[in-house]
Amino acid sequence: MIREILLQTLPQAYGLNRGHIQLSANELAGSVALSDTARCANCTTKQKPPCDKQTMRMNTSAATVILVDHESYIKQFSDAQLGKGKNCDYMLVDDSGSNYKVAFCDLTCSLAKSVEPDERRNSLPEGKRAKVMAQLAASVRRFTSKDATKAYIEGFQHRHCIFGWRDPFVSNSPVTPRRGDVDANMMIMGVATSGSEPLLLHHQEIDGVEFVFYQVKYPQVYNW
Ligand SMILES: [Zn+2]
Repeated sequence: MIREILLQTLPQAYGLNRGHIQLSANELAGSVALSDTARCANCTTKQKPPCDKQTMRMNTSAATVILVDHESYIKQFSDAQLGKGKNCDYMLVDDSGSNYKVAFCDLTCSLAKSVEPDERRNSLPEGKRAKVMAQLAASVRRFTSKDATKAYIEGFQHRHCIFGWRDPFVSNSPVTPRRGDVDANMMIMGVATSGSEPLLLHHQEIDGVEFVFYQVKYPQVYNW
């Protein structure tokens, strides 16, 4: 269904009749990791951060989820209204039968100092998280501002927007507590607690359609 929506319904809703539309959509199942490879180019050249390009962990459980490269899909319409404005990295879709969930997802591999707001900073004082929230909402609006695609989005049981964030210095190896090292053990407990569940940021209505916004900070796992 999502393929038909992206290859026909959405472009047609924007008055486009393109002969050939590129669409990169892959099926995901089980424990997977999504990557922001452009962002992580820096992580690998500098060698030091332990980042291994796994920006967001996800578990689909028994479901098969379609991962759409939304950024490259939208880019090919840059000469039309459909391609104008901000967009997010990925769309995740489970619309086989029950229309279980749709999620719009944007990833970043960045230090906390550029993700959190800081009024003293000249570039992007509101921080990357706020910027991504706006990108995600704009991506949703591309669908909800047209009747045919709004109906498709409204048909899902769950609608999420996800900010997947990895601090490149957060290691991928599990941390083992050391006997007698109280400070280190406290830190590990802190990591374990904060790493357990994605953070619900807020609920937002976009063109009258409700979305739930989450932050999934590595090594948290987003459970589909
Ligand atoms: Zn990275």
